[in-house]
Amino acid sequence: MKQRITVLGSTGSIGKNTLDVVSRHPERYEVFALSAATQVDLMLEQCAQFRPQFAVMASGPHAQLLAEKIQQNGLPTSVLQAQDALEIIASHESVDAVMAAIVGAAGLAPCLAAARAEKRLLLANKEALVVGGGLFMQAVRDGGATLLPIDSEHSAIFQCLPEDPACWAERVDHILLTASGGPFRTRAPETLAQITPQQACAHPNFSMGRKISVDSATMMNKALEVIEARWLFGLAPEQIKVVIHPQQIIHSMVQFNDASILAQLGTPDMRVPIACGLAWPERIESGASRLDFAALTALTFEQADDHRFPGLHLSWQALNAPEGTTAVLNAANEVAVEAFLAERLRFDHIHAVNLATLEAVPPSKPDSLESLLGLDAQARDAARRIAASMAL
Ligand code: NAD
Ligand code: MG
Repeated sequence: MKQRITVLGSTGSIGKNTLDVVSRHPERYEVFALSAATQVDLMLEQCAQFRPQFAVMASGPHAQLLAEKIQQNGLPTSVLQAQDALEIIASHESVDAVMAAIVGAAGLAPCLAAARAEKRLLLANKEALVVGGGLFMQAVRDGGATLLPIDSEHSAIFQCLPEDPACWAERVDHILLTASGGPFRTRAPETLAQITPQQACAHPNFSMGRKISVDSATMMNKALEVIEARWLFGLAPEQIKVVIHPQQIIHSMVQFNDASILAQLGTPDMRVPIACGLAWPERIESGASRLDFAALTALTFEQADDHRFPGLHLSWQALNAPEGTTAVLNAANEVAVEAFLAERLRFDHIHAVNLATLEAVPPSKPDSLESLLGLDAQARDAARRIAASMAL
């Protein structure tokens, strides 16, 4: 039987890489549904190639336009326009696996729907877990879903850990998340104020969406990944460490209680963790080139500089505060990055907005999706006010 896949965020960097891996294995996978925000033409191309049953666009006018083009092209895909269309395609009884590759907290509701519906949930959308925290993990347990990390660091750790999660707590001393350090690793901190969106989005090793590119440049991406790791692997915040490794060959490591370290290596190509998540525990061709050790000059490591990357520490701070704090941090960061990309906020003020929002929103522990979304909205309002007061 072929596995039927829903790809949420199919027009993005992870979405396109997922379809690339899927297209290499037509005997194993078929696409059940695709979703995107506004990219109608690319979605039409994807519908023509993969002939899914459903396609979802985030806005009514884009859905309308896609529906017209699909009809003109005689394709079999239905454009779903329901308010909860993403939840429907994430939890549909015909779906085996869901690739969660929407960017931001917007992906939380369909992730929860997939988790509750016992799907194989391939999680690239780290913000959903940073916002959802314990509630997200509870939905995975209650729904009997299989949660597989797609973020390359978390995929690496998952591959290094023993298969039985029951042994993790007693065997693992700590995990080491590797970080590229982004495009400004060696740049003088006093010059960070002048950085433009174009400079921030030019990542040394990966071509990624604009939001995660900016997060990589501030290292807020790593801060979000520390929080993501805490939930995925059930670790204490102190058991998660970060080391800069500019070559991005070692994707992360686990240190066990006997001081032995296991690492996962490979060329930096997101199709590797995607193929790993799709086929786990089997292994399939990903399309990535093989690592050539003879061509490697050096693998180097360094400590993250607090002055240059002040946001990294907010992750441990937020994890040691009441649980909703990570949702507040995520909301502030989404607002600040959007303002920076729109050239309304200085690069080095992203951290200032995050910090001020954490101080402005009272700590709380939401116990339902509704209260979590309420806190997310409250934090966004506060962050928008703060960002406006710092506007360029
Ligand atoms: P991207 O911006 O390239 O793509 C995002 C996708 O989500 C697009 O298809 C877009 O249409 C859709 N989308 C955006 N906003 C939406 C909304 N409000 N409602 C519905 N759909 C929406 O981003 P990306 O780089 O592919 O990253 C996706 C996720 O994967 C992010 O959470 C990111 O942190 C994570 N991730 C990405 C990489 C990478 O290499 N790109 C690596 C690890 C993790
Ligand atoms: Mg990552």
